Amino acid sequence: MNILVLNCGSSSLKFQIIQTDLERIEKDDDRQLAKGLVERIGSQSLVTFQVTGKPVEKHAAPLRDHRAALDHVIRWIIDPETQISGIQSLSDIHAIGHRVVHGAERFTKSVIIDDSVIRGVQDCIDLAPLHNPANLKGIAAARELLGIGVAQVAVFDTSFHSSMPETSFLYAIPYQLYRRHKIRRYGFHGTSHRYVAFRYRQLAGKTREETNIITVHLGNGCSACAIRGGASFDTSMGLSPLEGLVMGTRGGDLDPAVLELLHHKEGMSMADIDNMLNKQSGLLGISGLTNDMRDLLEEAREHQDRRAILAINIFAQRAKKYIGAYLAEMNGADAIVFTGGIGENSSVIRQRICAGLDWLGIAIDDQLNSQMSGGKEGEISAKDSRVKVYVIPTNEELLIARDTVRCVLNSPRRF
Ligand code: ADP
Repeated sequence: MNILVLNCGSSSLKFQIIQTDLERIEKDDDRQLAKGLVERIGSQSLVTFQVTGKPVEKHAAPLRDHRAALDHVIRWIIDPETQISGIQSLSDIHAIGHRVVHGAERFTKSVIIDDSVIRGVQDCIDLAPLHNPANLKGIAAARELLGIGVAQVAVFDTSFHSSMPETSFLYAIPYQLYRRHKIRRYGFHGTSHRYVAFRYRQLAGKTREETNIITVHLGNGCSACAIRGGASFDTSMGLSPLEGLVMGTRGGDLDPAVLELLHHKEGMSMADIDNMLNKQSGLLGISGLTNDMRDLLEEAREHQDRRAILAINIFAQRAKKYIGAYLAEMNGADAIVFTGGIGENSSVIRQRICAGLDWLGIAIDDQLNSQMSGGKEGEISAKDSRVKVYVIPTNEELLIARDTVRCVLNSPRRF
């Protein structure tokens, strides 16, 4: 089956086409056929397309909304000049898998999208006002352009964490607020944590039940997950993706008293504060330079910029703190797995996070660590490290494609 995987943000649309089916999943033989990105939807959009194995194509196009962006993508996919192997017309797209950010307590696994699922995703908008509306726009556009005869599947960022116990997911605020408004911790990046846990099992030869690890996703967004018996036991993001680790533009954990003080001292509205917490904090906020870890590391190395160094130090210390907390919560772990743009590529950050944890049985092999970047996968711990350390590139799109295949084949409805 050819699966179109869509990830719609507020002004962006990312896609991949992945060829997969049960046999390919079994043999790990899924094939990525093409991928692309439309940025700045709503104005002069920037479009990047690539057929796998061919050069990247970039151009600008005025795309006013997600429907126009998806229409543009589809025209490229079926253009005879594009030549994606096995795709000549729209009927060669067999199903669509959508990344949906918030599924709240209702969606604990991936589902075929029908009207009631759409209403369910709408009901979660209060919990994810920045993300779910964009995901819904992608679903509506795909329905309109490909027709309801093409199966669409929703894969939720929150689903993997639905196994968290109450002791992990409840905030210690009046319990009736959870009852009334479902105010609790949900966790995000679930597809990434689930994927790298699955790859870890393959690499380490473990069963799901034997998988007791800490996965650390460090990208623009960052989160850690304590995985016990193959299921999420605790994770660092909460009601929204603001909680937990230091991220590119989000600061993670914060005393809620700061909000009142900001309102009082700076005259900031809730909207101003929300914007500051989402877009102006984290690495960017501390350094005053950039949210990009690569650039910060360069500033620190080349110019010894004090605030760049501080941002990196706070980033690494927070990640270390969560690893320590999860080791305590789970009575130890067999492995720590790094993933995401920073986790996969930065030996310096991995080294900083793991430094001084030898008393916990965590030791990195410097040479293995320095070699691990650019999509490589494997172990970076020293031979005598009791807790193994791995780098595993994430592949959320692949998991979305696989879930889509499984949902379609298990559905009583024929597509
Ligand atoms: P997103 O969360 O948007 O998917 P990514 O997972 O691609 O983002 O991560 C982006 C982050 O990864 C950026 O901060 C970028 O600087 C960082 N990054 C990518 N390559 C490297 C590298 N070689 N060294 C340090 N940081 C890197």
